[in-house]
Amino acid sequence: MGRPAGGADTWRDELDAFLAVHLPEGWRDAVASGDDAAILARRKELDTAAFVAELGRAGWVAPGWDPAYGGRGADHDTALAVRSYLDELEVPRVPRGSGLPLAAPTILEWSSEETKCRLLPPIATGEERWCQLFSEPGAGSDLASLATTAVLDGDEWVVNGQKVWTTLGHESEFAMLLARTDPDVAKHQGITYFGLDLRSPGVEVRPLRNMAGRIEFNEVFLDDVRVPDLHRISPVGDGWKATRTTLGAERHALSGGARKKRKATDEILGGRTMDDVLDLARQLGVTGDPLWRQRLAGDHGDAAAVGLAQVPDPHSLAFERGAGGRDVGRRRRDFGGDGGGRVQRVGVDVDRTVGARVAPAAEQHHDVARVRVLRDDRQQAGARASRDGPAQMRGWRYAADVSARGFGERHDHARLQP
Ligand SMILES: Cc1cc2nc3c(=O)[nH]c(=O)nc-3n(C[C@H](O)[C@H](O)[C@H](O)COP(=O)(O)OP(=O)(O)OC[C@H]3O[C@@H](n4cnc5c(N)ncnc54)[C@H](O)[C@@H]3O)c2cc1C
Repeated sequence: MGRPAGGADTWRDELDAFLAVHLPEGWRDAVASGDDAAILARRKELDTAAFVAELGRAGWVAPGWDPAYGGRGADHDTALAVRSYLDELEVPRVPRGSGLPLAAPTILEWSSEETKCRLLPPIATGEERWCQLFSEPGAGSDLASLATTAVLDGDEWVVNGQKVWTTLGHESEFAMLLARTDPDVAKHQGITYFGLDLRSPGVEVRPLRNMAGRIEFNEVFLDDVRVPDLHRISPVGDGWKATRTTLGAERHALSGGARKKRKATDEILGGRTMDDVLDLARQLGVTGDPLWRQRLAGDHGDAAAVGLAQVPDPHSLAFERGAGGRDVGRRRRDFGGDGGGRVQRVGVDVDRTVGARVAPAAEQHHDVARVRVLRDDRQQAGARASRDGPAQMRGWRYAADVSARGFGERHDHARLQP
């Protein structure tokens, strides 16, 4: 796996060669044509996890990392260009779980060389998917009061305690674990941060079923679990500082960018972008109304700002490289945080103006559980749409179906059509 030095496009030739071998035939043509049905057909042919693992093994998932960690040692601009290139081609490039966005920046910033070499490569390939073992039944908002303990025994730590709200713990191989290693100092100072192999003896992951009948969260019980010191992510007693790196990265990930917000908007409004909303508003003639003009102009500006903040996105690259995530996370949240949400809200109001019934969830875009229910329903709608043919694929119509099914309503498709 060579360093992508030399001519500016050396990496591109190499990456193109990789993609030619590993992507289904016709992928690029489908993306270039913008034909949703053709793209979906290619996606179905792709085993995404296996593809991302190959991409990771070749160093393209985190090209800015050192080759010893599973990267290509690429400089900042090249790493950014690689990522943009893959995104343009709609190539999946992020392994499942919170390894790449949350654990990796923390490991890069806080861990020893040996630990980086052990923990990072399987994150880049997705072969070890990560979850987060922070919260406990008695330690939620006041996380530093956590009671799980880790006691050193030779070159291993013996961990006992219970965690809760572990998102995707039942589908993970590794976890970011916080444990108390010194009960005799101030609570923030006695914590150490570990990587925990969930396949170890003494780990029990118990799924929690949510009110929609789905499993997402888990309880995790830790009974004399032995963790090698090699898997210790922070210096002993510095776990709280390392946690702030993770939480900074999480804030960044949750505040999202254009792509992520667009996804959230898609879930409710069926792929409606700000431009779509504007077009519809023009057709409805509401743009002549001064109040509407003010809202649309403001929200259009916000949407553009979120887009600019994301593409290209040097901030998330800073996280990938472990370069001082905390401030970036805060700035990102302050700048880009709510722009996508506003697009959703203005879209909902445009819907109302047309007279369409808006699903209750669309008015509560912060209600995570409902949005997730909608997302699942939308996936089913997507599957049905692909079965029923390309005409069904077009966004607004099936999103309306989804909202309707999720809330026992029927939408009048004709009213939603521009
Ligand atoms: C979608 C989702 C995914 C999550 N995934 C994970 C995960 O993967 N791993 C993980 O470790 N955790 C996870 N969590 C847990 C989360 O990060 C918090 O730790 C947890 O939700 C907060 O703790 P709690 O539920 O015990 O609430 P508590 O901390 O008990 O808070 C209950 C209420 O009391 C209020 N409150 C708390 N302290 C004070 C105070 N001092 N003054 C006034 N009011 C106060 C809070 O605002 C809240 O309204 C997840 C949570 C959510 C919602």
